[in-house]
Amino acid sequence: MERVFNFAAGPATMPLEVLQSIEKNICNFEGEGLSVMEMSHRSKTYEKIINETRDNLRTILNLDNNFDILFLQGGASSQFAMVPLNLANNGDLTYYAVTGNFANKAWDEAKRWTNAVDITNSMSDKYKYIPHIDSSKIDKSAKYLHITANNTIFGTMYDNLPEVDIPLVADVSSNVLGKDYDYKKFALAYAGAQKNLGPAGLTVVIINKKYIRSDLDKSVPTMFRYDIHAKNDSMYNTPPTFAIYVAGEMFKWVLKQGGVKELEKRNIEKANMIYDILDNSSFYKPFAEKESRSIMNVTFNLKTEELETKFIAEAKENGMINLKGHRVLGGIRASIYNAMTIEGVKKLTEFMQTFEKNNK
Ligand SMILES: *Cc1c(COP(=O)(O)O)cnc(C)c1O
Repeated sequence: MERVFNFAAGPATMPLEVLQSIEKNICNFEGEGLSVMEMSHRSKTYEKIINETRDNLRTILNLDNNFDILFLQGGASSQFAMVPLNLANNGDLTYYAVTGNFANKAWDEAKRWTNAVDITNSMSDKYKYIPHIDSSKIDKSAKYLHITANNTIFGTMYDNLPEVDIPLVADVSSNVLGKDYDYKKFALAYAGAQKNLGPAGLTVVIINKKYIRSDLDKSVPTMFRYDIHAKNDSMYNTPPTFAIYVAGEMFKWVLKQGGVKELEKRNIEKANMIYDILDNSSFYKPFAEKESRSIMNVTFNLKTEELETKFIAEAKENGMINLKGHRVLGGIRASIYNAMTIEGVKKLTEFMQTFEKNNK
């Protein structure tokens, strides 16, 4: 079977093993005579799937019973709105670390409902780095600080979580299960699944139960309330059943690999293979500043746009696709999430060296 190396930022590559396990069960799930796609979400079989998926994620992230895991829809982008609606009252003070496009969108959405302040903002420096958060500037009455743990477009990442005295909320869409954070430090963390957790259509929310409120303003729509989803074990309405099942297969795979610690080690190794080339060449220009570099999305430029177009085209001819940077940044982006193999990254780095020789 001919498979390409897919360096897409999301929807992203998945482990072949996981795809094959799904393939095996696609028409007849474990002898039940029907596909998971066709199954009632209230059936015993499906109940077992969703419970096991939730339990495995809890194990992987080392979460105790103070945390709830919700399986929602609407993407990370819906969480930009749900977070302020559920964690703050209208007009309350909230803080945003604006470190990229998605962070900026989250901030914009929060401004609709709260007094959202950008405690730090690296926009004028093209989001090249993660600016330090001066915790002495934080007003303790603020409801939370929102960070974007990994900035998918720019290739920057928090290596350490900021230490603050107010609840910490994180968009972990592009480094969840790829970077080993202590998830007990979050009041809430959310992720669209399509980068590191499985297919698009599922959004995972990890929330400390302390922050689930049932006294929300009446204007907050039912489907936008964490308390409703938590009370109903993510079954208030039909959940994205197939996407949850696939995420469950991913979680089993993560456990088999040795968990997040082991995957993080591998991700650092993969990222360094590319960064080493970038740092030892005047042909390639890394975008993100060294201290802020992501281990999930590696961004860089070549001397001219023409050369970048040629790089992308030749990589494609060699079985490596989706290396074009996001339209707001341009250049090259290699997304190397958990499912990207060392073999794939090795092939990319060899191609980079050959391309440099031929185009110097
Ligand atoms: C992809 C991405 C989003 C947007 O996710 P959707 O699921 O498409 O809404 C938000 N934040 C980050 C960090 C992302 O990488």
